[in-house]
Amino acid sequence: MAPQMKTPGSIERQFCQTQLLSLYKGQGTIIHAVDYSFENRVATSPGGITFNNQIGADYARSTMEAATNFIWNLFQQNTDADRKNVQRVSLIIVQNFNNPNVPAGTGGDQIYFSADYIQQTGGDKTEFTGVLYHEMTHVWQWDGNGQSEIGWVIEGIADFFRLKADYAPGHWVKPGDGANWKERSDVTALFLEYCDGLKTGFVAELNKKMRDSYSDDYFVQLLGKTVDQLWSDYKAKYSAAN
Ligand SMILES: [Zn+2]
Repeated sequence: MAPQMKTPGSIERQFCQTQLLSLYKGQGTIIHAVDYSFENRVATSPGGITFNNQIGADYARSTMEAATNFIWNLFQQNTDADRKNVQRVSLIIVQNFNNPNVPAGTGGDQIYFSADYIQQTGGDKTEFTGVLYHEMTHVWQWDGNGQSEIGWVIEGIADFFRLKADYAPGHWVKPGDGANWKERSDVTALFLEYCDGLKTGFVAELNKKMRDSYSDDYFVQLLGKTVDQLWSDYKAKYSAAN
């Protein structure tokens, strides 16, 4: 999700930041390291306290960095020219999003994470990590130049990274489930995994194309079949297995 949200007033502020220098790699290729900042704006709320006790700022920052490297690698983005120009990613713990089932939201390079959701999930570190991989994907993925109708593929790719990082939660659908490939982001993610299995690097290639725009025809260009044909093949594969 990429909502423009108001940031609630801070009750207590915990602000940390890692400042890394630019690193040099190879001959003349400058790789800029990314800063990861963290702020718990609701550190005295039950969810904010649970976060500090069970997850912690150090873990959050190191997970943001690990997720970044994982995402760049899977997207095959090896140089600054391949990547979004983001120097700093901020993670901010806020109270909630007026819906306890919404764990987090990302706008640009800022990720907002719900303290109520952390409380509701008992400070589950694995769940926190999985959500953070999803949100970090939003920071780094291309969005087809802001085409609004491609929200489902944006969300599907974010869940695909959560899946590939081995943080898919138990409540997700199973492979082959779903009435169509845009039904839910986990349905899309599993379908994208199937497509990636047909041609390794498919999702990376799809993302590269989405730097400028999006079209369902990208499936034809990359895999030689329409997305509807691919969905039928995907469904047939799993119904045959059952
Ligand atoms: Zn999302």
